[in-house]
Amino acid sequence: MSDTDTRDPTSLRTPIVAVLGHVDHGKTSLLDKIRGSAVIEGEAGAITQHIGATAVPLDIISTIAGDLVDPDDFDLPGLLFIDTPGHHSFTTLRSRGGALADIAILVVDVNDGFQPQTLEALDILKRSETPFIVAANKIDTVPGWTEHEDAPINDTYESQTDRVRERLDESLYEIIGNLSDEGFSADLYWRVQNFQRNVGVVPVSAMTGEGVPDLLTVMMGLSQRYMKEEMEIDVAGPGVGTVLEVKEEKGFGTTIDTVLYDGTIRADDTLVVGGQNEPIVTEVRALLQPRPLAEIRTESRFETVEEVSAASGIKVAAPDLADAMAGAPVRVVRDRDLDDVIAEVQAELADIAVDTAEEGVVVKADTLGSLEAMADALGEAEVPIVRAEVGDVAPRDVSVASTAEDPKQQVILGFNVDTLDDAEQRAEIDDVEIFTDEVIYQLVEGYEEYVENIEQAQQ
Ligand code: GDP
Repeated sequence: MSDTDTRDPTSLRTPIVAVLGHVDHGKTSLLDKIRGSAVIEGEAGAITQHIGATAVPLDIISTIAGDLVDPDDFDLPGLLFIDTPGHHSFTTLRSRGGALADIAILVVDVNDGFQPQTLEALDILKRSETPFIVAANKIDTVPGWTEHEDAPINDTYESQTDRVRERLDESLYEIIGNLSDEGFSADLYWRVQNFQRNVGVVPVSAMTGEGVPDLLTVMMGLSQRYMKEEMEIDVAGPGVGTVLEVKEEKGFGTTIDTVLYDGTIRADDTLVVGGQNEPIVTEVRALLQPRPLAEIRTESRFETVEEVSAASGIKVAAPDLADAMAGAPVRVVRDRDLDDVIAEVQAELADIAVDTAEEGVVVKADTLGSLEAMADALGEAEVPIVRAEVGDVAPRDVSVASTAEDPKQQVILGFNVDTLDDAEQRAEIDDVEIFTDEVIYQLVEGYEEYVENIEQAQQ
């Protein structure tokens, strides 16, 4: 913090970072590299592993980034990376009440360029107005990049021939062109000096680590520039968060993995959680976080804590969570009127409710946000929806689909979900068609082809 800054640093929350991008473009590897660098640079224990997230404090970031990040220039405490890349909770990066992620990294493989999930991610970023950076990844795989056996693992851009650099630059400018087609103006950030407001494209290798310091630098600059006001939180206030995942956990029943972006959750709090049918009111049974050395076999991978403050990832064990939905809000009731909190959660859920028709297809998706995105896409394709729910394809979905009179509507479209075994058997018996995919527009196109085939057969 600078001398002139009077803000209380404890009231500034850690910015939450989501990593998005097409499958195999290197989201997991990049997260691992950042985490790995943080562990090497800091003493063990400096970074903290949360449920679904990793916190990297400012001093570690500045060590990784070398001269690029001066801790005195920043008053944000660090960065909290959400660990589940590709998780479609990200389809709503922002909810009414707050943010699931404040900033994002869009990972693009320099050799593979823009792919369906890249475009889908850009669409999400656009709609949620989330500031982001492009990590142009795998620069070490550019054809000709020194590959001979005795080549040092940390071969750099500078050590390459002009031809190889030219090839890489071509790929990078293609990415900038693609971003421009999507309405973003972008600049390349090779060796970060200063960072302007446009989308920064930072060449990196998640394998060798080249460019990672620059990426972190640009990210800190982005957070500092855009996020300061929204980063001010009431740490001691009642916790506000979003459900990342709903999971069965041995000994604890159904639990919710939650990202807490404001306030505190305590082990004796009453919570309101967004559910399939209505808000769930429940009491925390235990707050669970990963044991520091989870690989050592212990009774449980978790330890219980008495309270946790934003920004954190925490697993909450509580009764009656079976109907909780990924992407739904979580609110602590402490010091507040229960009815007010229920009304807030209801309002937030209504905001992302899907319009259904008397007849149509059944839609399932992994989170509320992705359900909403599916509904938008089907709306554009003029496909009516009879039922839309978060969760895997279950037998009761098959029952609903099987009652449709039009064979084109005896269909279940599942986005980023699994089909339960008994649902599959049931579908075969009842002649219900189940389509699943991890890219929305492929799912919709697949369905449209199916409809065309039926129509041709009918002629
Ligand atoms: P995700 O699906 O986006 O999470 O992608 P992963 O992180 O799982 O990476 C997909 C594959 O690309 C894996 O085999 C990685 O080892 C590889 N990979 C990721 N980043 C790099 C990189 O910078 N260079 C090279 N050579 N391979 C990479």
